Amino acid sequence: MSQPEDAEARRAVQPVICYPNETLPVPELALYAKAREGAEKVDEVLVPARDAGCFRAKAGQFFRISSVDGPQVGDLNLWNANDLNERFYSGKSRALHGTHLTTGERMWSSFPYLRPMATITEDTLGWYGMDQYGGSVHDVIGTRCDPYTGNLLSGSQYHHCCHSNLTRALADELGVSLAEAEPHVHDVLNVFMCTGFTRDTGQYFMKASPVRPGDYLEFFAEIDVLGALSACPGGDCSAEHSSDTAACYPLLVEVFAPQEGALGDWQSPPVNGYDRSHGR
Ligand SMILES: [Zn+2]
Repeated sequence: MSQPEDAEARRAVQPVICYPNETLPVPELALYAKAREGAEKVDEVLVPARDAGCFRAKAGQFFRISSVDGPQVGDLNLWNANDLNERFYSGKSRALHGTHLTTGERMWSSFPYLRPMATITEDTLGWYGMDQYGGSVHDVIGTRCDPYTGNLLSGSQYHHCCHSNLTRALADELGVSLAEAEPHVHDVLNVFMCTGFTRDTGQYFMKASPVRPGDYLEFFAEIDVLGALSACPGGDCSAEHSSDTAACYPLLVEVFAPQEGALGDWQSPPVNGYDRSHGR
């Protein structure tokens, strides 16, 4: 293919960060950590392998997702527990924080709300960083494994992809039909999953998760949240993720409530301040 004479010069232009995030409100991690010290467990849900489960955490509570029994990745959906229209916005969280989330970073909600739903307060895989392939953990670049893509690529009818697991779990939680629940399911935070993009073709890749039993990712709920977590049929996602081939394990979700007054005058963040007049 022919290229312009100044092709190299054009490629050599320095990139600029799309969304410099120095002005993002900084989470009060020290306050959260202090409140966490005296917190008591108020609920737990064991999500079975190749299935999903729902949980709820009130604003100011903590929820922890733990690996138990064996290496396993989880696909997390999050909604405002009082209004399902407000849900996790994977794409904007990626634009603000980068391809993978860790301690101090947040799960942001959809328009027109765009506010922090949950802040990561602890990540026992924080040591992993970015590996030699450009891989890291807890990504917001994947979507969720789903039966439609499986059908498109291989004509399969597999029913325990994360998309279907999340749909069933939400339908049960809300007491609605699968058809009513499905449109609420959205792109996930890939908990414990190790992913990246290949440098040569830019393709999405996965590799065996470094997670081991006892590892966990813990969040501070900034608003009342309803969560759904799927224990992906890919297990540790070392090979494939839309079949019953991989070894799969449960995931544990625990919810912790701080002592009364432990958060001082902390307040749940308001919805985004844009006036929504859109130039009219
Ligand atoms: Zn999955």
